[in-house]
Amino acid sequence: MKIKDLKVAVVNVPGLGRIGIVRVDTDEGVYGYGEAHCPRDHVLRLRNFLVGQDPTNISKIMLHVQHMGGFKPWGSAVSAVEMALWDITGKVFGLPVYRFLGGKNREKVRVYCDCGVGVPLDPSDPASMFTPEAYAEKAKRMKSLPEGFTILKFDIGFHGRQLLSVKSGSLEAEPIYPTKGHVTERGLKSEIAIVKALKEVLGDEVGLALDCGPGQSFPSALKLAKALEPYNLMWAEDLLTGDYSPYTEVYLYGLLSRRTTTPILTGEQIYLRYGFRDLVGKHAVDIVAPDVSDVGGIYELKWISEFADLYGVLIAPHNYGLPIAFMANVHAAAAMPKNFIAFEHHATHVAQWEDFVKGLEKPLIRDGFVNVPEKPGLGIEVNEDTVRKYLVEGEDFFE
Ligand SMILES: [Mg+2]
Repeated sequence: MKIKDLKVAVVNVPGLGRIGIVRVDTDEGVYGYGEAHCPRDHVLRLRNFLVGQDPTNISKIMLHVQHMGGFKPWGSAVSAVEMALWDITGKVFGLPVYRFLGGKNREKVRVYCDCGVGVPLDPSDPASMFTPEAYAEKAKRMKSLPEGFTILKFDIGFHGRQLLSVKSGSLEAEPIYPTKGHVTERGLKSEIAIVKALKEVLGDEVGLALDCGPGQSFPSALKLAKALEPYNLMWAEDLLTGDYSPYTEVYLYGLLSRRTTTPILTGEQIYLRYGFRDLVGKHAVDIVAPDVSDVGGIYELKWISEFADLYGVLIAPHNYGLPIAFMANVHAAAAMPKNFIAFEHHATHVAQWEDFVKGLEKPLIRDGFVNVPEKPGLGIEVNEDTVRKYLVEGEDFFE
């Protein structure tokens, strides 16, 4: 069997933006799906490396194409192709992807929910979504969602622009993203007030995680992490670097995590295992968060989980997008060791999110978990009817 073609259908989904649905075709009619969070051209540049290769020889193909990737968003094309190759491999051998990763350590996988900032309580005032009351209202709504999430994540600090909504909340006069700024006493108080309001709603029934940056100055990050210790957070994410930072502050993260009991997390922007060597090997953070769509795909994600476990570092994979990347996470997470916490769901606000795929029992998320599917490959078929509704003008459905 040989790879015959690589195609991309770009959809524009309200709440998610543009996503490339990637399909790798073979000369025997079997095909596999992946999901790219980058321009179509990034993906199509990989075509010449793929055509004529055996799609089940994934490791060798990845060695050929890994130089075409980098930190987010440049690792997305390589990651999307890797997912599609696993989908093909599973279909060829008639097995779900997790079986190629060592089998499943769990029957169902925990998912956590990204909640963003607060509810805009006064639609005429954009700042009204950043008050403690606005966050508390959002927490009430998210806590009662039918998905039954056991961990919720909210944006504070520079993430979601919460700190920028506070007058003189930071010394960042002209925010350039990713931000790097020093937080004032007023800014710090605003962050703490929000967390207090969130905890009053969530109590100890639902875990609270925070996405805090990037990038607070080191003293600001340390003060916040220490001030939040009494609230028993699941984690504080990207306090220093993260998101689209093209580097990792291993040294500073090490200093930070050693001086606070608040669990420190980063890693969603990192491409390939090498970016995790020092973060994990020096125990610079407590939790790593590689994203299957940016790190290099399913096998890379699984490998990092094993490596992290060796050093007592936990893993909570970042995730964003359609149910294709979501299911790639489910297979990887099913095979991860006991250091797996949960992976991210970032689409409760997206209409028809589940309808992008067929072949799975729905609703996908129940009591905060997803069942591990037993169908070959990723276990999904892309739903042409839904995809056609969201296709970007001029695109076709893999014709
Ligand atoms: Mg994040």
